[in-house]
Amino acid sequence: VAELGTPTRSVITTCAYCGVGCSFKAELNGDQLVRMVPWKHGKANRGHSCVKGRFAYGYAAHKDRILKPMIRERIEDPWREVEWDEALTFAAGRMQAIQEKHGRRSVGVITSSRCTNEETYLVQKLTRAVFGNNNTDTCARVCHSPTGYGLGKTFGTSAGTQDFDSVEETDVVLIIGANPTDGHPVFASRLKKRLRQGAKLIVVDPRRTDIVRSAHVEAAHHLPLRPGTNVAVVSAMAHVIVTEGLMDEAYIRERCDWDEFQHYAEFIRDPRHAPEATEMLTGVPAAELRAAARLFATGGNGAIYYGLGVTEHSQGSTTVMAIANLAMLTGNIGRPGVGVNPLRGQNNVQGACDMGSFPHELPGYRHVKLPDVRAIFEQAWGVEIDPEPGLRIPNMLDAAVEGTFKGLYCQGEDILQSDPDTHHVAAGLRSMECVIVHDLFLNETANYAHVFLPGSTFLEKDGTFTNAERRINRVRRVMAPRNGFEDWEVTQMLANALLKAQGRPGWHYTHPSQIMDEIAATTPSFAGVSYERLEVLGSVQWPCDESAPEGTPLMHVDGFRSGRGHFIITEYVATDERTGPRFPLLLTTGRILSQYNVGAQTRRTENVVWHPEDLLEMHPHDAENRGVTEGDWVRLASRAGETTLRVRITDRVSPGVVYTTFHHPATQANVVTTDFSDWATNCPEYKVTAVQVTPSNGP
Ligand code: SF4
Repeated sequence: VAELGTPTRSVITTCAYCGVGCSFKAELNGDQLVRMVPWKHGKANRGHSCVKGRFAYGYAAHKDRILKPMIRERIEDPWREVEWDEALTFAAGRMQAIQEKHGRRSVGVITSSRCTNEETYLVQKLTRAVFGNNNTDTCARVCHSPTGYGLGKTFGTSAGTQDFDSVEETDVVLIIGANPTDGHPVFASRLKKRLRQGAKLIVVDPRRTDIVRSAHVEAAHHLPLRPGTNVAVVSAMAHVIVTEGLMDEAYIRERCDWDEFQHYAEFIRDPRHAPEATEMLTGVPAAELRAAARLFATGGNGAIYYGLGVTEHSQGSTTVMAIANLAMLTGNIGRPGVGVNPLRGQNNVQGACDMGSFPHELPGYRHVKLPDVRAIFEQAWGVEIDPEPGLRIPNMLDAAVEGTFKGLYCQGEDILQSDPDTHHVAAGLRSMECVIVHDLFLNETANYAHVFLPGSTFLEKDGTFTNAERRINRVRRVMAPRNGFEDWEVTQMLANALLKAQGRPGWHYTHPSQIMDEIAATTPSFAGVSYERLEVLGSVQWPCDESAPEGTPLMHVDGFRSGRGHFIITEYVATDERTGPRFPLLLTTGRILSQYNVGAQTRRTENVVWHPEDLLEMHPHDAENRGVTEGDWVRLASRAGETTLRVRITDRVSPGVVYTTFHHPATQANVVTTDFSDWATNCPEYKVTAVQVTPSNGP
């Protein structure tokens, strides 16, 4: 700070690292960013922050930033730096030629949960209104798509039910497959404060995460389940609650579909769901599980928080619905201190999903097959919308390998590094005739691109992010985009190049507030959202409409959106990924506090000490059996591939389970993950891979 001088002005904006959505005051000396100060009036963070939001913004000025567009005829050719006009004309020409030759459904887009609501909205609009298909998908496909499905089916709304403040009235916290200390640090602090005040904690996680036992906090129950058995564990808890008569029958009769409940109760009462019957399968002692279920049902306000350890499974959607069943069963929906709370990973996962990034849904989670919904957008956009749902990311890649999908616009997402089965992703990308990467850096996906469009950072743009509590926060431009344009402007320029080639009128947005006005006009849950209102209120939580002009902190207070809560039968089905003599261990993955996803930003921030490599955590017994000691190199192999990394020996993981992070391209952890995925949404099963670990001499 001393070197950069005394700040002379400040801009309030929102952190772009995780779904907590902390507000920051960016302090500048002239045009020089001096520091990021957590903003005390930020409703999500109240003046708190973690190390990433506070310090990890140096990537915006990193020398690796690509600031000029680049094109090349073939991916084997060197890149050629060009002016924007030439790049956009080249990109539009290629996409147009592909559609003329292979049909309008032969191209698509991937939106980013890092980008703003307005940018995401424009990218899906590009697909639907310019390309004329629904081939739009989002990186939420690989994280929280089962949340959208599962909560939509049970509660009628694809979002968490509570605000963060709610935790202050919680008596029993149930955390399933989430590690808030590392993934959502500011919320974790509030959670720990409540635990120190006496709230009880139950953690369902194969790994003894920090929150299980940390300073002044000790979980009442840690259920270290075998990876892949979430549904069996949650169902066993529900079995105990139903068979011991601990459910909240009055709530169920008043708020839920009673016939569905009776059907569910008959299913869950079956002795096959009893903790004693599932102990061998899940690895969780029956007595512990019974005690945890009784505590959750009888301990007062019970709140459930979950993360990717729930969703990234072949039964991700089933687990989300099982969790929703558990909350309804115990009457823990619709008041402060309770609820079902997905902890979103990226800063705008909620917003990217809200904005119609999925191939079957227009903004506001409305199916493209519904004529009255299409009519709203057809009138607003002046086009006819394809009634057929489009392709999901894995289907795009499959279709590319088969030769029917030829062009992709990928904004703010490195699918080669973040999606499962890296070899298959590469094969898909290599088969395409036009890959447009719109990003900050030449990422791994860009190795297969024909056009590179430079992106802007969150410091360089106006817009909004929606956090895990449905809070719409303003993102404000702190400095001019180094690449010359905000991302929404780039998408608009690409759309206009395509529209010009098609002989159609172009788009004329001059500020993202106009895009938000269009969102509000077409999407009921955003009907009351405007930049003017955000200026006055600071932020609002959707639904925000005439009946709730200041937003909705708690959902389902007077009943569910669909009228009644729906109990869904959640049968446990084992994953197809099995251990055996060749691959006897189960690998699960996660993240650490100081790094972020594939590390594109955090690895390029040099002002703090970051973890320099991914490590493989292994139980001492498994290490001893393999003759491996702390810090040794090991080969991690699965049926899909292999990589090399160093080992950390710890009893945080159970025998038979190993764990690693996925932040470094050198490791490429997703080389070993399989192509199994959630049955309902295709969310990849990152959390269960059968592996072998053997000593190695290093990479
Ligand atoms: Fe940013 Fe999340 Fe840290 Fe808040 S908790 S500063 S939103 S990374």
